[in-house]
Amino acid sequence: MIIINIKPFSFYNKILARNYFQSFSKLKNLDTPALNVAKLIEDKILIPLESLDPSIPFSDHKKKFSKKIKKILERIISVLEPLSLRFWNRPLEYPVITEEVLAALVLKFLLGMHNSVHLEKILFSFQYSRFIELTNILKKIIASNELKSFNISGFLIFTDFKCIDTLVSEISFWRNNAVTEIKTFDDYFNDFIGFLSNNSLFIEYLKGLCNVDENTFNLLLDFTLKKTVLVQNQIFKWYGADGFTTYDRKIYIKLFETGCPVMNKAAIFYVLLHELCYYFRRISCLTWEDSRNCPTPETIIDNIPLSEAGNIFEIQFFGDRHRFLNKSVCEFFLSSTEKLSREEYSTRFAFINRTRERFYVSLMRGACLGGKDIVELSGCAISKHRGYD
Ligand SMILES: [Zn+2]
Repeated sequence: MIIINIKPFSFYNKILARNYFQSFSKLKNLDTPALNVAKLIEDKILIPLESLDPSIPFSDHKKKFSKKIKKILERIISVLEPLSLRFWNRPLEYPVITEEVLAALVLKFLLGMHNSVHLEKILFSFQYSRFIELTNILKKIIASNELKSFNISGFLIFTDFKCIDTLVSEISFWRNNAVTEIKTFDDYFNDFIGFLSNNSLFIEYLKGLCNVDENTFNLLLDFTLKKTVLVQNQIFKWYGADGFTTYDRKIYIKLFETGCPVMNKAAIFYVLLHELCYYFRRISCLTWEDSRNCPTPETIIDNIPLSEAGNIFEIQFFGDRHRFLNKSVCEFFLSSTEKLSREEYSTRFAFINRTRERFYVSLMRGACLGGKDIVELSGCAISKHRGYD
């Protein structure tokens, strides 16, 4: 057994922030090249989308907007590209520079649309959701406090516009003004360390992803858990996900609220293990560019090629990518101290979790049932974006 000796810290159950863009008003007069381009996108694309002539086929509108996007790109690329490059080459441990990160976001947004085979759907979604406030959304991202990494990486990933099915809900996310509850991981910190100590098979696996010695591993684990943020369900609902590890290696987990503490804890630990695979896979990445180009080597399981670190882990240790956890498996997962091999453990886990117990009806993915015998899982934001779900 590997005992991880990490001292507890004192701020239990601390709510970090209720309003994640509280310094927004300070950005009223923010003026950078990227915000000027965002204003241009609003004026030339997003606002005109609002008043399209309905008698003209949307495919004709698409051609017109495609030309506009190309024209804007040609006009601004020499200004935004050098700034954007500086952002991508910035070391992950340094704070981002507003001017650079905004340039990267705006350029990604334009290139995402320009390169997408789904431009018609994207424009339709923008029109349908009355999405015109790109400059405000960018300012909110810059003004975010604890959710800043989440917002920057989320914007960068989802402006590939690969996951068209969730586009409208993502736009809701960017537009949202709602109060968000986020918490530190403090409440679960000691229990998670104890849980890992009882399950050295997880530790060995995670260590293998980053090839570091035990001391370094423990320091890295301590470092990331202290920065891990639990986020109110609503934000993850928009992404259709339970967890997200950002390019700069900050872990966000859905604040599961089933009414059953054991199941909440089990779901958080389950999702956290998945996310820790990304964290340790990317541990040697120096810059944002390294982090976005850090693919997982393909692993073939049951003749299926897998290249997503968290999914490979789940299948190897739990026998499947589980869509729900029943109460029995939550109890097994949290309390197991048996010395099982990985194969025995995954077989046992999948066997215990084979039924929905008292619930046999099909439930909407991502739903949480208050005080009942099951917790639903939705997967991670990276999987969602890559279309693995
Ligand atoms: Zn994943």
